[in-house]
Amino acid sequence: KFEIILSGRSNVGKSSIIRELTGKKVKVGKRPGVTLKPAHTLRSDLLVTDLPGFGFMSGVKDRKQDIVKDQIVRYIENNADRIKVAVLVTDAVSFVDVVERWESRNEIPIDIEMFDFFNELGFDTIIAINKMDRIKDSEREERLDAIVEKLGLTPPWNQWNYIVAPTSAKKGDIKSLKGLLRKRLHDEKRDDLF
Ligand code: GDP
Repeated sequence: KFEIILSGRSNVGKSSIIRELTGKKVKVGKRPGVTLKPAHTLRSDLLVTDLPGFGFMSGVKDRKQDIVKDQIVRYIENNADRIKVAVLVTDAVSFVDVVERWESRNEIPIDIEMFDFFNELGFDTIIAINKMDRIKDSEREERLDAIVEKLGLTPPWNQWNYIVAPTSAKKGDIKSLKGLLRKRLHDEKRDDLF
């Protein structure tokens, strides 16, 4: 089995991206934080896993957020040997603000923590910067540079375009992500899948 995991805050568009990738309907716009179990979509022998969304969840206690994080980490550690690619999904509109809010409290933002964790485990990690349709064309490059910089990657973002994919899942535009995944799957002779 070849597994791709998608991870990210609640409401960033993970379900929408998976629907575009697999053609299979998964619940979109569900109440954040309701899905606590990883959701799997199987396409041939390719397993696409939607991990529970982390971060703020309305009506969900802090304690529960820790449980979600522990579940994500445990799932990843238990399945690390078959996970080939990890996609960290971020929201182009709110990512920088959210990270700065954590930094101002001297805390490590959970997205950054996950990104470092994936890299430590040796996963081939892709960053999908979603909801790009909400960013004006004139602000696009600046926004993408600011996001990659927060992830510890030196701008311009474009020099990282083999791991960074701007997407607009709602508009059905995830071709940059598909392109990056296809490249990874090619080595496994699975590039017919997307
Ligand atoms: P998840 O919680 O990460 O699985 O996010 P969902 O896929 O359920 O999407 C959360 C909300 O964001 C929904 O209302 C989606 O329609 C919306 N959304 C998802 N992708 C995009 C996008 O590319 N652009 C915009 N504008 N909205 C999006």
